Amino acid sequence: MQILSAFVRHIGTMCGLPILEDGNRLMRIVLLGAPGSGKGTQAALLEKELGVPHISTGVLFRGIAENATPMGMEVQSLLDRGELIPDELTLELLEKRLAQKDTGNGFILDGYPRNLAQAQSLEQLMEKLNCPIDEVIQIDVDAERVFARIAKRATESGRSDDSEEVVRNRMRIYQQQTTPVVDFYGQSGVLTRVLGTGSVQEVLQLILSVLAMGAEDISA
Ligand code: ADP
Repeated sequence: MQILSAFVRHIGTMCGLPILEDGNRLMRIVLLGAPGSGKGTQAALLEKELGVPHISTGVLFRGIAENATPMGMEVQSLLDRGELIPDELTLELLEKRLAQKDTGNGFILDGYPRNLAQAQSLEQLMEKLNCPIDEVIQIDVDAERVFARIAKRATESGRSDDSEEVVRNRMRIYQQQTTPVVDFYGQSGVLTRVLGTGSVQEVLQLILSVLAMGAEDISA
């Protein structure tokens, strides 16, 4: 046990990240899920539970789109159509965000990777930092429920991309481009699927139990 915890501490040092004093392991988590699957809601709750920042590329892009610059306007127009922002710009944004100090104990990534090229870029980035992703969790919700949820949200959120037509485009892109990412992580053995149809609290408890099982694997 002592040898094992020394080993775990060593991994922490290699990553330049401290092992938490209470013995909890670092948390570098990727949340996957279709638009409306609840990953933004869960990521915000997990941030509070785990004390590591929620990084949403969608939120970052909506921030950029508020600027009346050529880039802000370009991003706004892609958001309005539900299209993906080019990979290069997305990676640059993510790299900058991950370089901030608050990611020292980990992070919850929401909205990245969204296609296979992004998944490969993330692998390379994590390799460079010597810190693999610990867990990938896919929140599974059927398409019908997703449309109903987003239709309800559209009246409250004020998001320009929540109209029915744009949601259909976002769903199509998810199925074509993000489903291969789910398979990619499935093959590497870090993926767990969680049923996202229960209440917000029920889904949160499911995710927390998946994360706790991961931690038990390490300390067993
Ligand atoms: P949702 O997952 O509910 O569609 P997000 O807030 O995650 O909402 O994303 C909103 C929009 O932000 C996407 O439709 C896309 O235009 C842009 N976006 C977010 N993340 C990425 C990414 N990794 N690559 C490209 N575009 C992205």
